[in-house]
Formats: sequence, C-alpha cells, structure tokens
Amino acid sequence: MAFSTVSTITMPAARLPATHRDLESILVSAADIKRRLKKLGAAIAEAYGDEEITAVAIINGSIFFTADLLRHVPNPIRLDCIRIFSYRNSTKSHGKPKLLHSLSLDITNRHVLVIDDILDTGKTLSVVVDLLKKQNPASLRTCVLLDKRGRREVEFEADFVGFQIPDRFVVGYGLDFAERYRNLPCIGILKPELQNPPEW
Ligand code: 5GP
Repeated sequence: MAFSTVSTITMPAARLPATHRDLESILVSAADIKRRLKKLGAAIAEAYGDEEITAVAIINGSIFFTADLLRHVPNPIRLDCIRIFSYRNSTKSHGKPKLLHSLSLDITNRHVLVIDDILDTGKTLSVVVDLLKKQNPASLRTCVLLDKRGRREVEFEADFVGFQIPDRFVVGYGLDFAERYRNLPCIGILKPELQNPPEW
C-alpha cells in the first residue's frame, strides 16, 4: 500500500495533544494503521496456516507495532526480542548494525517471523536474517510496518509490508527521534526546525 499524500495538521497547536505539536504533518494516521494491521494479521495467518510462529521483534522500534499486530494473528505464538545498534551520523550513511541483545528462545526448526518498524537501507534486516539463519529455523519471514524502498543500499524485500512511504524521516508508533515520539499513535514528519541535526 503506497502513500503519496500527507495529511497536514489543521487543528490549532494549543488543542493538539502534546506529542503532536512537533509534527509538520501526519503521513499515516492512527486509523490507517489500525485498518492495515488487521489485513496484515490476516495475511500472516494465511501464510502460516496452523503453524506456531516464533515472532522476533527488533526493539525498541517495533514494540508498538508488534504488540498491536500480533493481536490480529490467531496462530499460537512464541515471542522474543532482539536489540540492534546501528551507528548513524547522517541520514545517508551508517556502519554495520551490531547485535546488542540476542534471543532467549531456541529457534531451531521453528517458523520465525522477524518484525521491524521500518525497512530503510536494508542493512539491519539483512544482518538480522543472516544471524538467525545460522540457527537453522524451519522458515524465516520478515514483516515491517514501513518500507522506504527508494533508500535501499542492500537488496532486501520484506515478506509482509504495512505501508510504502516516501524518503522522509518519520517518527511515531514506535519510531523515535532521540528516543522521543515513540508514543505517537500515528506516523508523522517532524517540523523542519526540529529535524536538525539528524543524529539517528
Ligand atoms: P536500515 O538498516 O534498513 O537502514 O534501517 C532500519 C532502522 O533504521 C530502523 O529499524 C529504524 O530504527 C531506523 N530508521 C530508518 N528510517 C527511519 C525513519 O524515517 N525514522 C526513524 N525514527 N528511524 C528510522
């Protein structure tokens, strides 16, 4: 599902929730996310049939997405998290992502679904997938809420995608800027004066 239009905020700033006041515009509304997650959950359930899924959430970014998505997946689910560190000094380049916290669950012969907030250059997910494949899962699929296809530096396609979005830095619904804005219920674009410097 592609998003080419952005809804601009029209309510006076004083009446907006505090979390929304720093946004220039909303790219994906809370209602859009809710609707899309139902469909994604159904697509995941169809792909796995009756199989148990071992969901691996890449935190912190995918915490909100994972929690809401998995409530729409009726399969038996085991849930684990991994934490990845990516050094970034600009929006254009960053080093190879490193694993900071590894899995607690054994995924050998299990059907694994890796869940992340956003697929950008593709480096994070390709590192994670390579790492997890070494543990010989029965199958390994990936699911992302957002996909900035135009920014790919490593060839990577997710199996399940919530929304294709343009090449803009976004916050909300788990995505942060300097650890803020994760609790926004929508995906938005920060006001330009707040986007500097992009040390993410
Ligand atoms: P990749 O390794 O694919 O370049 O990036 C994946 C990670 O970069 C995401 O999990 C997320 O933490 C971060 N990222 C990429 N684009 C954005 C963005 O627009 N906003 C925020 N907040 N984080 C992003």
